[in-house]
Amino acid sequence: MSDNEFIIVDEENKETDSGQTGDDVKQEVVSAEEGKEEDKDDDGYEKVCFICHRPESVTGKMIDLPNNITVCPDCMQKSFDAMTSGSIDLNRLMNMPGVQFLNMSDLENLQPKPQKIKKKKEKPKEFHQLDIKNIPAPHKIKARLDEYVVGQEYAKKAMSVAVYNHYKRVATDTMDDIEIEKSNMLMIGPTGSGKTYLVKTLARLLDVPLAITDATSLTEAGYIGDDIESVVSKLLAAADNDVERAEQGIIFIDEIDKIAKKHNTNQRDVSGESVQQGMLKLLEGSDVEVPVGANSKNAMVPLTTVNTKNILFICGGAFPDLEEIIKERLQKKTSIGFNSELKDQFDNDKDLLSKVTVEDLRKFGMIPEFLGRLPIIFTLKPLDKSMMVQILKEPKNAILKQYQKLLALDEVRLDFDEGALEAIAEKAMAKDTGARALRAIIEEFMLDIMYEIPKDDSIGEVEITRAYIEGTGGPVIRLRGQEVPRLEDMA
Ligand code: ADP
Repeated sequence: MSDNEFIIVDEENKETDSGQTGDDVKQEVVSAEEGKEEDKDDDGYEKVCFICHRPESVTGKMIDLPNNITVCPDCMQKSFDAMTSGSIDLNRLMNMPGVQFLNMSDLENLQPKPQKIKKKKEKPKEFHQLDIKNIPAPHKIKARLDEYVVGQEYAKKAMSVAVYNHYKRVATDTMDDIEIEKSNMLMIGPTGSGKTYLVKTLARLLDVPLAITDATSLTEAGYIGDDIESVVSKLLAAADNDVERAEQGIIFIDEIDKIAKKHNTNQRDVSGESVQQGMLKLLEGSDVEVPVGANSKNAMVPLTTVNTKNILFICGGAFPDLEEIIKERLQKKTSIGFNSELKDQFDNDKDLLSKVTVEDLRKFGMIPEFLGRLPIIFTLKPLDKSMMVQILKEPKNAILKQYQKLLALDEVRLDFDEGALEAIAEKAMAKDTGARALRAIIEEFMLDIMYEIPKDDSIGEVEITRAYIEGTGGPVIRLRGQEVPRLEDMA
């Protein structure tokens, strides 16, 4: 028998640490087989006390009585104490109406249900969260974002620094002469480039509540639509009505470009400029009375006060036509002087958006006070083909990995060849909705695969090819035992 078949429990040595002599060191050898037996007994249920109904995990080891009856040490002790201390006059009790004594021998005939309840399983931790009370350095926050979000290097960097500063400010809470400004952010990027995904990932990593709202649904208080403070009540709901948690949360307001000041209008702008005005106080930090457990105030719901001073506001939008404004500004600059002939040099500039200034945003229709309260402005790049391919296969919860896992449960290996991935990316690019199109496209192709494969037990491997995606061929199917060997299998 080899050594590793034994677990050696050296009880005596443990005692030497506490001052006892270790002369008589005995080694108790427990066969690993016995250990396995114990595991077998663990059926996921735990015993419950017949008298007090508490589970074994609370009471300590149960005492087994006949007929599957278990009693906890406390109750057993109490029963003995009551019998022996004489505090109960058994003779008198016997004669009292309604008092019955449990005769142990009666238990033999009793057939109670097994006294067990399901053990609570510890939830597996999905991932390591960052501690906002002791916020890690920006590069560490970015490294975690990198695991999920492909590309967008500048956005991830800007966001990591902003979040670091924000939670540092919250943790220290110093209100001296140099008051650290809030790090509210404005994200500008085309649809499907990962704005919402970045914020969601960040909130998950930090384990803070997140409320996502669409700016288009907001109107000035008193008009049809959600009033501005409803965003805070959403956050409170996301924090399970825990005000303290909500006050450290994140509010993401999407489609912020839709509340730009309307040009050339004579009507009152209840969903544009007024909403920007209404948001000023929230962004800066103020006490807001919000209904608990409902999203509108009325006489029937209790109100609570939430302070928005430490809530991180992130606004996002695609800002269509902003590029035109930037181009115009840049062209004006170059039209003066000798290189004025390069008028169309910005027409094909893919990175035009990143040259945005506060001035451009003002021109777009955002009011200066509003922009002033969003000190961190950054842009996201439109996704190109190679980024799309990366999004398909690289992030921790990439779509391909999800399908691979699903089929692996049927012991079928799923592979996509490079050509197939590119073909999917090309199709997604044509839809012009960013990475959002990827899932829809893959789902369409995978439907047949997910339907057909489980029918046939002999299939061991499916390889999706470009031809299959383009509709000119089928996937490559290999039977069990004929799979192509992989490096990871050989390891
Ligand atoms: P939007 O910029 O319009 O808010 P989303 O963040 O909602 O876009 O992106 C839609 C989906 O596309 C996300 O759920 C995510 O799965 C995927 N996605 C977008 N960009 C990225 C990225 N850079 N890295 C990984 N996945 C991304």
